[in-house]
Amino acid sequence: MVADIPDLLAKRAELSPDKIALEEVATGRCLTYAELDRRAGQAASLMASRGVKEGDRVAILCRNRIAFFELLFGCARLGAILVPLNWRMPGFELHQLVEDCSPSLLFAGRDDRASVEALAIPAIDLDGDYERMLHASAPGRWRSRWPSESIWYLIYTSGTTGWPKGVIYNFRMALANYVNIGSAIDLRSSDTTLTFLPLFHTAGINLHSLPTLFAGGRVVILDGFDEEAVVRLLEERRLDTFFAVPTVYQALLDHPRFASASLDHVRHWGCGGAPLPDSVAEQYRDLRVRICNGMGMTETGPTAFLMNPADAWDRIGSVGKPQLLCSVRIVDEEGRDVRDDEVGDLLFSGPGITPGYWNDAETTRAAFTADGWLRSGDLARRDADGFYHVAGRRKEMFISGGENVYPVEVENVLAAHPAVAEAAVVPVPDSKWGEVARAFIVAASDVRPAPEELQAFCRARLAAYKVPRSFQFVADFPRTASGKIRKHAL
Ligand code: ATP
Repeated sequence: MVADIPDLLAKRAELSPDKIALEEVATGRCLTYAELDRRAGQAASLMASRGVKEGDRVAILCRNRIAFFELLFGCARLGAILVPLNWRMPGFELHQLVEDCSPSLLFAGRDDRASVEALAIPAIDLDGDYERMLHASAPGRWRSRWPSESIWYLIYTSGTTGWPKGVIYNFRMALANYVNIGSAIDLRSSDTTLTFLPLFHTAGINLHSLPTLFAGGRVVILDGFDEEAVVRLLEERRLDTFFAVPTVYQALLDHPRFASASLDHVRHWGCGGAPLPDSVAEQYRDLRVRICNGMGMTETGPTAFLMNPADAWDRIGSVGKPQLLCSVRIVDEEGRDVRDDEVGDLLFSGPGITPGYWNDAETTRAAFTADGWLRSGDLARRDADGFYHVAGRRKEMFISGGENVYPVEVENVLAAHPAVAEAAVVPVPDSKWGEVARAFIVAASDVRPAPEELQAFCRARLAAYKVPRSFQFVADFPRTASGKIRKHAL
């Protein structure tokens, strides 16, 4: 248990009032720390004037923008809980989330007006009345300390394996994330980072927006991922840190100017959220870019592992080592620690781990062991040099003829074939082996390799029981908002 934390935005406004905290690419607007501090106080007053009280939920449905952070820090002052909603969700799904967290007020951008009407919650238009209402609100005298265990915001998980779960984020987790990220990427007050991943996912808020703000750096906000805009910003601006998911790294490689852009100004390239194919990491190594693969979950706040830049080129395939404030165990089915190089269930503990899920005591109970370790649902191993490797989700592992098959390993091999852009492997029933692998493939071009060729390619690199028996080409995969493949939909 950590003692109450001072309001870190107020601290920053005291330490570096005139530095730019936020910059919005779409409008060119910038806010200094002093301005952000004042507007967060005004946002708290505005919400209070609309009846929001401590512990109430406030939803936000918008593309990435400055107002998101005003409301996030406004909630911290008021003691309200911000719930970023996924604007990519259809009305039916949004309805389910809103039923789950029952917000008393909603802030939404113009793009999402249609969804707002269907949700039937009192709403404020971020492109309409918001600015006028904020101006009319006094900054107020709100709480100046953040109780470490009090809930700050909820983040719904990606929904890769089922229905999204509302992960509780408290102030202790935000502080732990700052320590973890700050120490891992050597965060500095002179740093500028780019935020384009959606702010309704943990990566958007926490990698590296909040840590950069706590450090006194600058967060450049792009309203969403757009290859051209990201490449242009990389060409024109000095960005010190950059975080993206594997699909983004893959897409950047396909951009005609990316390979020739001067990228030396980026000190830290972080990656995580889904398996990073070795073939993608190798292409970055050819470009002399040290992608640091990391692994975490919404529940771990999020980064649990991160590769050290110095090891990035020699340890492709690994997610590095546990973060400073993250303890890790890999256990067998009886809960005993496994030996190095043995695959087991990955467990986490530490101040960055969520206390549980909103409104779901049963799922929370099931997510933790009796002695308080979070069950990740992932399988992993530690190698003899102390580097960790994710073997995939336990739910996705299947048994073929008595042998364990980890789809990620097979996908990684297929992704190395020049004609394959992306692969997803799932089990299908088989009368002889119980289950065998079927591969769904997105081709890299119009040329589709014959199944026999792909099979031979896999056979040369994998044990026979892992080699897919059938291949199906698809135009794209069903995906979550963060670009992960929804395998249960396949
Ligand atoms: P849901 O819980 O709703 O099914 P989700 O598990 O995708 O969604 P997230 O919290 O977004 O929710 O993702 C965490 C999961 O992503 C991890 O448990 C792990 O399976 C996977 N993951 C994250 N980073 C990596 C990585 N570097 N390599 C392999 N897998 C990763």
